[in-house]
Amino acid sequence: MKTRILINEGEYRLTKAGVMDAHIDAEELYCFLKGCDKVVLFLMKEEEADKETEEAYFKLIEERASRIPLQHITGKQEFMGFTFMVSPDVLIPRQDTEVLVTEAAKLLRDERKAAAHNKSKSRGGLFKMFSAPPEQKVLDLCCGSGAIGISLAKICEDLSVTATDISEAAITLAKENAKTNRAEVEFLQGDLYDALRDTSKGKRVRSYDMIVSNPPYIKTNTIAMLQEEVKDHEPMLALDGGRDGLDYYRRIIADAHLYLKDKGWLMLEIGYDQGEDLRKLIIETGGFRTPEVIHDLAGRDRVVKCQKV
Ligand code: GLN
Repeated sequence: MKTRILINEGEYRLTKAGVMDAHIDAEELYCFLKGCDKVVLFLMKEEEADKETEEAYFKLIEERASRIPLQHITGKQEFMGFTFMVSPDVLIPRQDTEVLVTEAAKLLRDERKAAAHNKSKSRGGLFKMFSAPPEQKVLDLCCGSGAIGISLAKICEDLSVTATDISEAAITLAKENAKTNRAEVEFLQGDLYDALRDTSKGKRVRSYDMIVSNPPYIKTNTIAMLQEEVKDHEPMLALDGGRDGLDYYRRIIADAHLYLKDKGWLMLEIGYDQGEDLRKLIIETGGFRTPEVIHDLAGRDRVVKCQKV
């Protein structure tokens, strides 16, 4: 069978099984099987695929048709241009979350520039060119695969990143991801801020320039409506945000001031319709300047950003 026909058949089987983006997945699975990229695939589309390839390919298609996420079959996901290993123990990094990372990186860069500018202004003269701004500290809560913290550590200069997650398995995978991406990130296991407790000997001695998080935020009773790939294969622990989806935001926002430096930033990924809820929650809790809701390219609520007073 010609490769082109093989992939068409794969796409047909995936479509029949209700898989979204069946064409992309049919190609991705072929590339995964042959260890090639899409350009190579394009060049060999008219070549005959041997029997072995055919059999192995349809096995992969069958797995995907049973609604196992593509990334659980290939074991990886691209995020911010980096490759992250994934497993059923962590949420598969989403493109939506790139909005959070991009905004956080922009803000950190601006603050760094401002700090360097102020330092050189206060020193003046010859010292101007030697004044490096101080290291910035970021805390990534509910880090999962580590995608957010690791990407920030790669993108931003002089960043010290601590990432925490309640799941031991997630922390193990995140450490692997930091290693393969050659990023230096400190990983601690524990429930939100509790993860920081051991190292601070029970006292809250740690303070950060920024807290970032993509916590679980799906309402418990809407989980049943998610795609099969998500509700049957991704960890509930990373999705279920309680009755109104806001359980983790309440806890994160309530204690954020204890771990943020003055004028430090809190940046949270939010669901497409949670902007107003988050704005209210932050204002009610107090201790922050007026929060800003940032939208994704489709114009939906995606990130809430606020600064400690
Ligand atoms: N954005 C994810 C989804 O739609 C949910 C992520 C989360 O709960 N943090 O499945």
